[in-house]
Amino acid sequence: MFDNLSDRLGNVFDRLKGRGALSENDVREAMREIRIALLEADVALPVVRRFIDAVTEKAIGSEVLKSVTPGQQVVKIVDDELTAMLGGGEDADPKDRELNFAAKPPVVIMMVGLQGSGKTTTTAKLGKLIKAKHGKKALMASLDVNRPAAQEQLKVLGEQVEVATLPIVEGQQPVDIARRAMESAKLQSADVLLLDTAGRLHVDEALMAEMKAIASVSAPTEVLLVVDSLTGQDAVNVAQSFTGEVPLTGVVLTRMDGDARGGAALSMRYVTGKPIKFAGTGEKLDAIEAFDPKRVAGRILG
Ligand code: GDP
Repeated sequence: MFDNLSDRLGNVFDRLKGRGALSENDVREAMREIRIALLEADVALPVVRRFIDAVTEKAIGSEVLKSVTPGQQVVKIVDDELTAMLGGGEDADPKDRELNFAAKPPVVIMMVGLQGSGKTTTTAKLGKLIKAKHGKKALMASLDVNRPAAQEQLKVLGEQVEVATLPIVEGQQPVDIARRAMESAKLQSADVLLLDTAGRLHVDEALMAEMKAIASVSAPTEVLLVVDSLTGQDAVNVAQSFTGEVPLTGVVLTRMDGDARGGAALSMRYVTGKPIKFAGTGEKLDAIEAFDPKRVAGRILG
């Protein structure tokens, strides 16, 4: 991921750093190239605009151009803005990117997103992580009654990661499953309840109504939107549709191991206003990482 973007930015930076002095025009020319590189990496247009404006203002309206190493300073500004765009700015609280367990147990974590985004896999990955890293007892429940075998899929994954799943009751509707899951989690003294909701191929009203109903009976502490980073601009559209409809608290980007152009990752924070909490990095059930804006920015800048 980010290879192409990284190469393009690298070329711009080499040119900037290769010059002793920089004029305002040199900076503007570099920003034009960075703008195109970001757009070609599928970063959403408003995000690109904001980024370029912020970098241009800082690079031109300060002492940067008069300094002895203007090129390096511009590169540093780009690095800082990129980190901020990914949610790692100075005003961002790193705690926001962690799972919030500060509610009366069972703490409910609701997973939402489109079908195929990696929701069920991510639910199992989080179940495993919550048990192994946080030492908490988790229960997982699939509320997906649309896709045949979705509930069975979570059960199988639960067995693999050794995290309990709610027994399947044929014909039960999502909201009722959520209620039963809450009861069961309480009875088992589970610390955390992970609710894997149904996806659809596209966002529609029925999906949103179902998500709202589930959120209202389960009062989730976390509502995590799972998006496939391979889907670029579509991922941005999905995020826009969910934002405001359900009380999102964070984003999980899956398939960060793929060779997508990376635009979704760069747009998500801005579009949802919520932190990217995790990155899925493979099909295996331990392939999940806490999202680290500084490290990702470092990877992009090479
Ligand atoms: P759901 O329909 O949203 O529940 O999606 P699934 O969890 O069933 O995932 C769909 C496919 O994507 C499965 O084959 C997963 O193994 C795969 N998958 C999920 N997350 C990742 C990831 O981070 N990287 C890769 N390479 N594959 C993933």
